[in-house]
Amino acid sequence: MSPLSPRPQRLRPFEPAVVAFGSNLGDREATIRAALDDLAATPGVRLDAVSSFLETTAVRPHGIDDLAPRYLNGVAMISTALDPHALLAELQRIEDEHGRVRRERWGDRTLDLDLIAMAGRRVDDDRLVLPHPRAAERRFVLEPWLEVDPDAELPGLGRVDALLARLEESREGRDVAASGREADEGGVS
Ligand code: ADP
Ligand code: MG
Repeated sequence: MSPLSPRPQRLRPFEPAVVAFGSNLGDREATIRAALDDLAATPGVRLDAVSSFLETTAVRPHGIDDLAPRYLNGVAMISTALDPHALLAELQRIEDEHGRVRRERWGDRTLDLDLIAMAGRRVDDDRLVLPHPRAAERRFVLEPWLEVDPDAELPGLGRVDALLARLEESREGRDVAASGREADEGGVS
């Protein structure tokens, strides 16, 4: 290479990524807005779009918990030059700065930031799984994601609109089964 050749570029290209956020303690909206500002201010991260905030019932490992404080959830579309583990570390730093205390799995929290997908990448190690393994079952992820990207796809699982439709169908199926059971148990007929 001649001395005048340009030096090889080592800058990583920006890749699209999807971050889901949730909060069910404290001033949920203020926490989420501050966390999104922190995300936008992180070197190597650009905030491209933010969904509406959706109010949802808490989900525990054993199922839906109507008694727990309700969540505000949504999704942010970002572009990032960070690698997936570095991005996860930044998300965890932002969680920690907003008082997230890690106690129990799926427990109440001031802030939860999950990395849902990053371009078409697959990762599976003890720190990070991509795409996020439970995203396809979470309406509170799929619905806001679809709002900001109508053509969204979950790598390996297909289009988000189809996944959401399937989720709603299975929920309707369960609701019909449950109302049938209630009628049986009611002993009216
Ligand atoms: P949850 O969000 O399921 O309630 P936490 O936020 O406490 O659980 O995260 C638990 C662990 O999940 C973290 O320590 C993190 O290393 C791991 N993890 C694996 N994959 C992901 C992902 N795609 N996004 C966020 N965290 C992840
Ligand atoms: Mg999390």
